[in-house]
Amino acid sequence: MKEDRVVTFDMLMQKILNGEKQYDFSKIKSAYHFAEKAHEGQFRSSGQPYIIHPLAVADILLDLGMDTDTVCAALLHDVVEDTPATYEQLRKLFGRDVADLVDGVTKLKKVPIFNRDQQKAQDICKILIAMKQDIRVMIIKLSDRLHNMRTLSYRPPHKQRNTAYETMNIYAPIAGRLGIETLHEELEDLSFYYLDPYSYAEIEKLLEINKQERENFIDLIKKRIAERLQQENSIIFAREPQISGRVKSLYGLYKKVFVNHKDFNDVYDKYAVRVIVSTVPECYAVLGIIHDMFRPIPNRFKDYIQSPKKNNYKSLHTTVIGREGIPFEVQIRTWDMHKTAEYGIAAHWKYKEGIHGKDKMEDYLTWVREVLEAQQTSDDVEEIVKNIKDELAPESIVVAMTPKGDTVSLPIGATPIDFAYEIHTQVGHGMMSAKVNGHIVPLDYKLQTGQICEIMTSKAPDKGPNRAWLDIARTTKAKSKIRSWFKKERREENIETGRAMLEKAFQRCRIRIPEEDYEKFLEDDMKRHNCNTLDDFYASIGYGGITIQKFVPRWKDLYHKLYCQDDTPAKLPIIQPASRSKKSRIILDEIQDCVYKFSQCCNPLPGDEIVGFITRGGHGISVHTTSCVNYKAMLGRNNPEELERWMDVQWTDNQETTMQTSIEIIALDRIGLMFDITAILTEARIPIVHSSSRNLKNGNAIVDICLMIVNKSQLTAIFDRIRKVKGVLTVERASN
Ligand code: MN
Repeated sequence: MKEDRVVTFDMLMQKILNGEKQYDFSKIKSAYHFAEKAHEGQFRSSGQPYIIHPLAVADILLDLGMDTDTVCAALLHDVVEDTPATYEQLRKLFGRDVADLVDGVTKLKKVPIFNRDQQKAQDICKILIAMKQDIRVMIIKLSDRLHNMRTLSYRPPHKQRNTAYETMNIYAPIAGRLGIETLHEELEDLSFYYLDPYSYAEIEKLLEINKQERENFIDLIKKRIAERLQQENSIIFAREPQISGRVKSLYGLYKKVFVNHKDFNDVYDKYAVRVIVSTVPECYAVLGIIHDMFRPIPNRFKDYIQSPKKNNYKSLHTTVIGREGIPFEVQIRTWDMHKTAEYGIAAHWKYKEGIHGKDKMEDYLTWVREVLEAQQTSDDVEEIVKNIKDELAPESIVVAMTPKGDTVSLPIGATPIDFAYEIHTQVGHGMMSAKVNGHIVPLDYKLQTGQICEIMTSKAPDKGPNRAWLDIARTTKAKSKIRSWFKKERREENIETGRAMLEKAFQRCRIRIPEEDYEKFLEDDMKRHNCNTLDDFYASIGYGGITIQKFVPRWKDLYHKLYCQDDTPAKLPIIQPASRSKKSRIILDEIQDCVYKFSQCCNPLPGDEIVGFITRGGHGISVHTTSCVNYKAMLGRNNPEELERWMDVQWTDNQETTMQTSIEIIALDRIGLMFDITAILTEARIPIVHSSSRNLKNGNAIVDICLMIVNKSQLTAIFDRIRKVKGVLTVERASN
């Protein structure tokens, strides 16, 4: 692996003097002196003086061609957090821009992001908002992270893994999405080294074999292409084409070998030769020559000039086989495309030549705006996180075409609905049906690359989307447009739908409160979702901005707190309560002299963790699961008399008997749904006691089935199978 190179201020000065770009030298110098003084006496984990870190970050940013203020902010990026220096001080000495940049980077550091399990959409949005305000903050952050990754070996092992994980999942993809390929690739390779050191070593070793031969091979190919281009009379190049060759990045090869399970020898594009020319017609001319010289491998040609990647990457890619029988990839692009491919959004600063104006920069940030907009119409944290991840993985796309031949890039799994909204919001709202390659397809059809998709729209001006589309659409954009249509256009309908949905949920949870109490009962939830009136709250539920399911446990809890406390005061228990130590667990079936029953609220099944409650009035023990809302509510109340009534119980080992349990399935309604589900149960020989289903307004169906189940693992297995049935969205144990 590459060793980190220590950068001194003298080296930084030399770089500025030798470069073509103009910098405010004295400003950078005084930023350096300020930082050096502020960090005096502080050291890195490596034992080196702290100042080497800001210097290295500034050096990376100089290579990217960033401006004076960014370089100053890089030198100062840790002073506000780690030293007594303040924002005000920086503002007075270096101006508002520099102070704001340092402030932005400091704030990003405090966002507790992306630990493995808990990802908070709010926190990710903070990052996105910071990016939207001034993208330079993110570019500094990425450079900061790059230097920290280069020096990660000095950190303790568990920190190495966490930092590498976060880099691989968030910062490297952001660098990729902004098109800054130099940062992207190095961040990926370094994270890869810490996340999977064995594979890293293996790939390194594989590359070491025949290294000389390989280099000779690439040199030979380069020479042959150069000679042929020179002889070619059919094109007059505006400027001599530049030809370079290289082996692809370690992580790129790793993905091909270990993720796609390819043999190292079968990886076609280990080697890449790049030809850079002046104009787009020259690109296609070179492509023709390459295909004339070498045999192209079918289906390996990609035209990223006609269909650029989401991060604006443009080039022609083709894989060919030489006389030696060794395949290699050829990338053909213009100089402008090359600048964008290497520097992405940073090209805006590096080459201020007019082509990379403010519009170009906006291109890189539309997705940031879209994700933030979508966040305003959705409160579903998981969905927001998923959207962002989708946005950050631009490789996984399909490219479909309009009948006129315009291309539309979409994530894998996208449907005609996504396609329609991608063309134009009004096309989406007005969509009636869709054709793919001339044939009508269902709206949940998954588009494939190369297909021609035609959207038929209604002539009626007020035709709008369908609620069921929300479950079918794949892209953030489509979902947020559909939601905002319902939000705006159908308030009355939303209120009605929302109220009905809420009442159904209340019924299912057996929450019975008078309607005049609703407002008080829902007070906190309304406040949290900025709803001033009950109607606003209903409307939000109605257009799908609030998902009702996630409130249910809290509502049950609250209901028990507010309405169920007036139980008649307890008489003395007939059964002596067992002490709650682990030793005195009661084994069910062994408590012969005691009646026990399974509670209706959580329906425990063998295998569940359970507790027993000694009922008031001597009706024996009622058994609950430890995840039961009633049990949890009791723990919250902390009433000593009540606490004493709970006892540990556990299942006997051999449970031959079956138990009745209810499950609830939510699915997209379709013909044959019930049949498919019952077929699975019949096949597993699970008796069905009764079943029912009903349709929701949004096109979904709820299926309730009561089953005889042996134990929890049987139920889990059945759940797994039902989840695979087409259209099934969720399967859960019903909460009575
Ligand atoms: Mn730092």
